[in-house]
Amino acid sequence: MNQFLSRRSFILILTMSLLKIIFKPIQVLASSDTPQDKWKLSKDEWKSRLSPESYYILREEGTERAFSSQLNNEKRKGVFHCAGCDFPLFLSDQKYDSGTGWPSFWDSIKGSVETKVDFKLIVPRTEYHCSRCGGHQGHVFNDGPLPTGKRFCNNGLALRFVPD
Ligand SMILES: [Zn+2]
Repeated sequence: MNQFLSRRSFILILTMSLLKIIFKPIQVLASSDTPQDKWKLSKDEWKSRLSPESYYILREEGTERAFSSQLNNEKRKGVFHCAGCDFPLFLSDQKYDSGTGWPSFWDSIKGSVETKVDFKLIVPRTEYHCSRCGGHQGHVFNDGPLPTGKRFCNNGLALRFVPD
């Protein structure tokens, strides 16, 4: 009887560890896609954290003047973080010169941004924002280079560059 029970518990333990091995990678992927620690700050809290210019871009979906950001010409290796919450959004390897006057990327770090459609210019555009704090970054278009064909057109004031 004891032997039977121990064999059963051995099989149970074995099954549990197999399930853990199978499900662990899925959990890791899911957590990187949806940050669990979303920021929820009030308007006043954001105003005290950000410059008026960055507040206008990040929290009111503003757009900076073309060619006004120094990050437009940033060519060093590094990571572009959200200026609101410091979440890493783009790698320098994903940046390219689109000639538009705004820092442009052909892809973002997986799970770092979320999109929504806006109609501010009547024609629908796809807005994207930091997936952690919801801060507006820019708009994404389908006229970018390969391999994605995407152009993430980003406000420089919404980013903070961290060189390697
Ligand atoms: Zn953010």
